[in-house]
Amino acid sequence: MILDMGPMLRGEVDTIPVDYMLRPEPLQGIEFTADAHVVGKVTDTGGYMRLVLRADMPYRTICARCLDQVDGVYTVSFERTVAEEKSLTEEQIEDNVDEYIIVRDGQLDIDEQLVEEMILSFPTKFLCDDDCPGLCPKCGKQLKHGKCGCNTKEIDPRLAVLAKLLEESGDDE
Ligand SMILES: [Zn+2]
Ligand SMILES: [Zn+2]
Repeated sequence: MILDMGPMLRGEVDTIPVDYMLRPEPLQGIEFTADAHVVGKVTDTGGYMRLVLRADMPYRTICARCLDQVDGVYTVSFERTVAEEKSLTEEQIEDNVDEYIIVRDGQLDIDEQLVEEMILSFPTKFLCDDDCPGLCPKCGKQLKHGKCGCNTKEIDPRLAVLAKLLEESGDDE
């Protein structure tokens, strides 16, 4: 989304609403089931311009513990001080990329920085439930559906290692 900042820069408006759909960049292990809904606004408070957005991202992935499908909506918050290019030096802009978003030629291009924020803040691991008990390390049954009756005190050590790897693999997969 490219916003025309002209009316705000000329002092004609002090709020510019933002509402659009944005297709997220693909992430490994995550399916985005619909475009992200981006809503928010740019406000001008006595010359101090601020962009405040939230992006709701519907996703589908698998539980890091039991491998069940997980559907949800992850919300990314995005806030930047809006500055005109001529009001900052290149150095100030480069040193504060997480603080500023820059108006160039009267236009504010939101997507590049927003997409970056989406990628950086998106969790690498999801659980179907915070209390998901995961899989039985012996028979592989999903323990949330009930106990399997295995005597887990005699876990095959190789399976125990596998179960641990599965638990930790969310960071890479
Ligand atoms: Zn689970
Ligand atoms: Zn079992």
